[in-house]
Amino acid sequence: MSIRTELQSAREELARYCQRLAADGLAVGAAGNLSVRVGSRVVITPSGLDYGELTAGEMCVVSLSGDELDAPEAPSSELPLHLAIYRTTEAAAVVHTHSAEVVALSVTRAELPAVHYAITSMGGPVRVAAYARFGSAGLAAAVLSALDGRRAAILQNHGAVCYGASLADAYDRAVLLEWLARVYRLARCYGAPRILTDAELAEVSAETRRLRYGERRRR
Ligand SMILES: [Zn+2]
Repeated sequence: MSIRTELQSAREELARYCQRLAADGLAVGAAGNLSVRVGSRVVITPSGLDYGELTAGEMCVVSLSGDELDAPEAPSSELPLHLAIYRTTEAAAVVHTHSAEVVALSVTRAELPAVHYAITSMGGPVRVAAYARFGSAGLAAAVLSALDGRRAAILQNHGAVCYGASLADAYDRAVLLEWLARVYRLARCYGAPRILTDAELAEVSAETRRLRYGERRRR
């Protein structure tokens, strides 16, 4: 596939997922942002436009160092955060949300503990990165530190960020993270939740790897 075709399909995929953001409760209005890596380039949503109306042609293409290569609109103000994640992880896509459950958790807790084994999708309990202004280098640094060994982080008084091997993978993780935060809040209504141990989480990860290996063999 030519780079031009790859960039176009990334733009179209981003536009499709933008349509889902509000309906899935992950962001309101123009909040939050999504990006996809295509080789040494990143396609990212523009700043300040309503997600329900974003089109493929309005997505911005930048280099990994942030140079605008094709930007009909201003790229998202969280571009430095997205680029920092691409430069330091194996991420192929990044999803940044302002979903209610994670924001509520971020202002009262230091991490989302392992209340359900599905948290292994995040790499373990999800840390809350200390507050720093949106779009700042300080925020990118705090999030990178919280992402150590994880594929998701919660941003204090702000939202959450997830990455994945594809946009679908990163987006599904963002939906799951919001669900896990909700489960934790609900569990706390009943009392002190039982938290899964490191050994129990390791057992789940090992079994997940074993089942994936089985899937490949059956093909
Ligand atoms: Zn944000």
